[in-house]
Amino acid sequence: MAVLPIPQIGDPVLRIPTTDVTNFDDEWFQTLVDDMIETMREANGAGIAANQVGVSSSVCVIGVDHNDRYPYKPAIPLTVLVNPIIEVLDDEQWLNNEGCLSVPIRGDLYRDMNIVVTGKDRYGKPFEQVYRGLSAGTVQHEVDHLMGGLIVDRMDNRTSMTTWENFTKNGMAAYLERIAPVIERTEPRP
Ligand code: ZN
Repeated sequence: MAVLPIPQIGDPVLRIPTTDVTNFDDEWFQTLVDDMIETMREANGAGIAANQVGVSSSVCVIGVDHNDRYPYKPAIPLTVLVNPIIEVLDDEQWLNNEGCLSVPIRGDLYRDMNIVVTGKDRYGKPFEQVYRGLSAGTVQHEVDHLMGGLIVDRMDNRTSMTTWENFTKNGMAAYLERIAPVIERTEPRP
């Protein structure tokens, strides 16, 4: 396994929509998935998309255990999503504040509360899972990456943009209060 470099905003690979994975037996693909997991953990991310390691394939990894970068996040089981498609279950949304391993700032943006994701697992087996709350936000963030999107595209309130340092200093307390009910409803739980 290897820790790979993470392209930053402005790198064209982050803006190219990824293409579906078809060959799951490929050793190269399985190594890619292992390297993405390693890279996500090394960077303390809650998720990472293949184009964030420079590969234009539709695969992302999510997983939160105890995370120093996101200490408030409920745990998410380590999950590999291949060719994921999101169906939004209703019109409920919540206001998150997100960061990204490819973007040096954080900011406010709306996420759907209740979604179902279909796709494949890393071995090509059909995958389906309902996500709610913060974990649903994490999945939407990664699927945005796979479509060539970044958090800055969704930040409608630009005055909420902040460095990580200033978010911790000035924004974290109010954010934690705001998302407490969303954390309560976050699924799945390990
Ligand atoms: Zn990201």
